[in-house]
Amino acid sequence: MTTRRIGVMGGTFDPIHHGHLVAASEVAYSFKLDTVLFAPTGQPWHKSPAPGATPEERYLMTVLATSTDDRFDVTRVDIDREGPTYTVDTLRDLRAQYELNFPNLETEWFFITGADALADIMEWRGPQEVIALAHIIGVTRPGHEMRHPDLPADSWTLLEIPAMAISSTNIRARAGRGEPINYLVPESVANFIGKRKLYQ
Ligand code: NAP
Repeated sequence: MTTRRIGVMGGTFDPIHHGHLVAASEVAYSFKLDTVLFAPTGQPWHKSPAPGATPEERYLMTVLATSTDDRFDVTRVDIDREGPTYTVDTLRDLRAQYELNFPNLETEWFFITGADALADIMEWRGPQEVIALAHIIGVTRPGHEMRHPDLPADSWTLLEIPAMAISSTNIRARAGRGEPINYLVPESVANFIGKRKLYQ
């Protein structure tokens, strides 16, 4: 049986930026992943509907940003599911899809996200099931004080990514003030933000 190593990159991606792309690339290299599946959240469970881009716009920007890298793909599991996004559902749904579509494929699963988001993992729905479904990888900004999640040491890894100094919050603020966002996000994403007048 063939084994594939699949990373699920979970995030709001409002908007996706080069920090996310560098992080996905570095994790793919370090963990010898065959694929990184970007999973834009539907409605994040901990936020009220934001004034930012719609889920469909965040999904489209993620597709634009990842289209030139063969290792990257985007899934709609969280965008298409009703209600708030819980990582346990993301991983259950993706694993079920893969078992159905690729019955002869053995898969090893990794869940990648920002280390800040991970610090609260014990308050997520079903944290023990989450770590049973995937190895957890937190990516963090340089100099960031890491709060270690309260989980068995072999269930998670933290990786420092220099390009994570870029943040979606900062990009939204820059776009809102009419400042350039070139080179912080892929050109296709900058064009999409301009065309849809996002974050203004
Ligand atoms: P967030 O609170 O919007 O972001 C927290 C921090 O992590 C921000 O600094 C953010 O930077 C960074 N970040 C988020 N996703 C990242 C990624 N893929 N790569 C690198 N940095 C990232 O977090 P969120 O986006 O809502 O949630 C992150 C993931 O955790 C999602 O998949 C979400 O579904 C999951 N989550 C699940 C639960 C649950 O199951 N109950 C609860 C919370 C989060 P940027 O703003 O620059 O991205």
